[in-house]
Amino acid sequence: MTLSFPAAVFRGVDEPLQIEQVDLPDGPPPGEVLVELAASGLCFSDLHVLRGDWPAPTPLVLGHEGAGVVRAVGAGVRRLREGDHVILCWTPSCGVCRFCASGRPSLCDEAKAKASRHVMPDGTTRLRQGGVPVHSYIALGTFGRFVMVQESAAIAIRRDVPLDLASLVGCAVTTGIGAVINTAKVEPGASVLVLGCGGVGLSVVQGAALARAATIVAVDLDPEKRQLATTLGATHALDGADANLQGRLTELGAGGGFDYAFEAIGAPATTDVAIRSLGKGGTAVLVGQVPAGVTVPIDPLLISDQERVIRGSNYGSARPVVDFPRILDLYARGVINLDLMVTERIPLEEINSGFDAMRAHRGARTVVEFDHGLARASSM
Ligand SMILES: [Zn+2]
Ligand SMILES: [Zn+2]
Repeated sequence: MTLSFPAAVFRGVDEPLQIEQVDLPDGPPPGEVLVELAASGLCFSDLHVLRGDWPAPTPLVLGHEGAGVVRAVGAGVRRLREGDHVILCWTPSCGVCRFCASGRPSLCDEAKAKASRHVMPDGTTRLRQGGVPVHSYIALGTFGRFVMVQESAAIAIRRDVPLDLASLVGCAVTTGIGAVINTAKVEPGASVLVLGCGGVGLSVVQGAALARAATIVAVDLDPEKRQLATTLGATHALDGADANLQGRLTELGAGGGFDYAFEAIGAPATTDVAIRSLGKGGTAVLVGQVPAGVTVPIDPLLISDQERVIRGSNYGSARPVVDFPRILDLYARGVINLDLMVTERIPLEEINSGFDAMRAHRGARTVVEFDHGLARASSM
């Protein structure tokens, strides 16, 4: 017996995703779980694959920002049970390598190497079409109704948060809030610049507000996203197309520049702005992901003479087992806002229009709902 269901399949660069039937084996193998997805957000990383910025094998089910309900568990699974609400995590971790052991599972040696080839740790795929293997993006593939994933890629969560909102914590929210809290460790009173106000950038804004930054300057081309940034905690919102942007940033950075500048777009020009906008001793945090092979020139004197720091943040330096539940606790207490982050809910069949909106830089986050009842479920 196999489980057959529709999924959005990537077949080639710049081609629309195709809604096709795919199959999973009936029961999960040892150490894996079957999850029925309630919702999946559309992320810029998926668009990188669609545009050919990051090479990927085909056929491939994209999607890596999902939440749902565990429907079956394989032998040896210890943390999860049937019926658990889970957020999927795109950095499955082995738990024992030197990075896992030092609290940096997003850098896990073993699991990350396999997942970045879009296969399971044994090098094979779980999805099939007839006898043909179908890859799952970062070993998740959340643009299908079901996924079969390693136990470490599904994190159990409280049941009173709707799953469509929880799905965003699987990528954008953790990436953004984690970059502020875990990677940069922004301190109260700091001045913070956020370049880009998509799902990740708005989460950086919320993280900066959570850290009690005194100045939070958000920059985006879209007036609606700038408005949203202000609602979510930005003290200033600037138009990225403003000819005098660098001048305005120099005025607003306390003492000649910002303590922290977060690049949340993944573009060479904004990476340059982030580094230039720092004050003495300031830290630029590169959160956005650029196309493979892109480089940015750096003036080393600017870094050494004034002790500026450039650092990367992958998945918000998160420890998903700790951070996903914490973020949901903060949401439940009303400290952070997830509701405003979802700008559109669409059925799977309309996924290409969701990516069109992303290409046009409209809205913060589009979420695919697989089942409205399940997506809005907050207790089952
Ligand atoms: Zn993502
Ligand atoms: Zn590891």
